[in-house]
Amino acid sequence: MSAPDQVAGDPTRPVLQVVGLRKSYDGRHYALDGVDLDVYAGEVVAVLGPSGSGKSTLVRCIDQLESIEGGAMYLDGELLGYEKHRDHIRPLTDADIARQRRRMSMVFQQFNLFPHWTVLRNITEAPIKVHGVPPAEARARAMELLGRVGLADKARAHPRQLSGGQQQRVAIARAVATQPRILLFDEPTSSLDPELVDEVLQVMKSLAESGMTMIVVTHELEFARDVADRCIFMADGVVIEDRPSADFFSDPRSTRLQGFLKRATENRAREVEA
Ligand code: ADP
Repeated sequence: MSAPDQVAGDPTRPVLQVVGLRKSYDGRHYALDGVDLDVYAGEVVAVLGPSGSGKSTLVRCIDQLESIEGGAMYLDGELLGYEKHRDHIRPLTDADIARQRRRMSMVFQQFNLFPHWTVLRNITEAPIKVHGVPPAEARARAMELLGRVGLADKARAHPRQLSGGQQQRVAIARAVATQPRILLFDEPTSSLDPELVDEVLQVMKSLAESGMTMIVVTHELEFARDVADRCIFMADGVVIEDRPSADFFSDPRSTRLQGFLKRATENRAREVEA
């Protein structure tokens, strides 16, 4: 896929910076307990860890779908969710939060396509209505994206007429159509039948190769190893390891990551046998 239009910026500054992020759903237990993360333009960062470690919460906080209790996040150096006002920090208005959210896209586990709209409309709606792209241009771009995810012949179909893998490829095309600065994936293949996983991973791989900046929460270890530049391992709401992918898999430092990778490898071997 072609690279998204990158906003010219300082290449030494991360596209996304997360500093000391804390999130609690109940005021007692922290789902995120001080997470730091820098993501640079063109980087693909895979987020791995056991269930309940905070991976999904992290990307949902970055996309401002959740409130946060502490820390800060910056997109291209702009503070997300808050602004400085005189000598204190105050929450942004909903309109300003919506403006910030337009510069990122999220791909969810459950596709979240609108069932009563065609594939084409699912992809063109936000560019036309939210980003002000002229309809003809939005449609042309959507058709190009559909071609790239291998679904050019499905533009007039409705989501229910597509397999789960096809729906997720449409959801990815939709996410890319708004030319986000960063693309967030929250377990994009977890709800798919096993035989449909690869077609979605292939599309994600081609996006990564095009230079898209991506954070991918995933259980697909081979994808993380082969496609991600860096992997982070989370447990109990903190980042335990943040390393280049090759080192992450060949030389895990913490006993928790060692145990996680060992269990994952054993599970994979059992799946292959079965
Ligand atoms: P992961 O994605 O690694 O499986 P999550 O981010 O979903 O982890 O969850 C992290 C912690 O936050 C878990 O203890 C989970 O039970 C809790 N949690 C997640 N979502 C909610 C929610 N909407 N309400 C209350 N607790 C939640």
